[in-house]
Amino acid sequence: MLGAIEAGGTKFVLAVSDNTLEHVEKLSIPTTTPEETFDKVFEFFDNYTLEAIGVGSFGPIDVNKNSSTYGYVTSTPKLAWQNVDFLGKLKERYAVPVAWTTDVNAAAYGELKKGAAVGKNSCLYLTVGTGIGGGAVINGEPLEGYGHPEMGHIPVRMHEEDSFKGTCPYHSNCLEGLAAGPAIEQRYNKKAQYLTDRKDVWDIEAYYLAQALMTYTLTLSPEKIILGGGVMKQSQLYPLIRKEFSKLVNGYVATPDLDEYIVSPGLDDNAGITGCLLLAQKEL
Ligand code: ADP
Ligand code: ZN
Repeated sequence: MLGAIEAGGTKFVLAVSDNTLEHVEKLSIPTTTPEETFDKVFEFFDNYTLEAIGVGSFGPIDVNKNSSTYGYVTSTPKLAWQNVDFLGKLKERYAVPVAWTTDVNAAAYGELKKGAAVGKNSCLYLTVGTGIGGGAVINGEPLEGYGHPEMGHIPVRMHEEDSFKGTCPYHSNCLEGLAAGPAIEQRYNKKAQYLTDRKDVWDIEAYYLAQALMTYTLTLSPEKIILGGGVMKQSQLYPLIRKEFSKLVNGYVATPDLDEYIVSPGLDDNAGITGCLLLAQKEL
């Protein structure tokens, strides 16, 4: 059987399935301490005979196979999870191949194989939620290099009506600091989900996200960009982002029709866990 873990900062989604992914069983557990959380992970997987596991984890994580801390969660703001040997704990318990990548790379992989980007060789998945993170699949492979992409921390140009200082402790004008859910909440003293009727909020949000999508388009040329995460439940954002993107790119590069290019997830909230199962299958 295939095992999968979508490891998030607030919850872990665990899944097992047959090799065809037709029958999937899932369990969601809260992310507490590593000890407690792994006990629950083992309790679930011990019921099955696993042949491979796919993990998509929150991060930053070490994905560099030449590194002595390969498989670790590294400098995460979740202190209890800093320098935790995630992969090592799994390997110690289950002697099977384990695919190890970021949650957003896994989601991109899920969307490519079974979601909005079926039939393509490449796609980019960006989540706009508590943070902003991006993953990509290029030529059918999750995108990694020395490390993994951190697409949420690219700099963006400030909107002229925005004087918010940003929430990122590392960068004064990065995308995540200006456009993730907590940035919206701090800028307006109200959670993003209660600001639906405020046109100015979404104009500014689209202004930042469109800049980022232009950068990703110019550097990676994906065939599709999929936007997920809590903030993107504000579906009025999609046309605003497409319009702003079009203005910024100004006809310089060819892209698919923007209604087909900048889209919502095909797998809704299952992109990540589906991608993890598919990565386990690929590992076999
Ligand atoms: P996480 O990033 O922790 O996995 P989410 O993707 O749900 O979880 O992101 C949570 C953030 O998204 C919060 O900042 C919240 O205010 C915002 N959010 C959740 N639902 C909505 C919504 N319907 N509209 C706008 N923002 C939302
Ligand atoms: Zn930053």
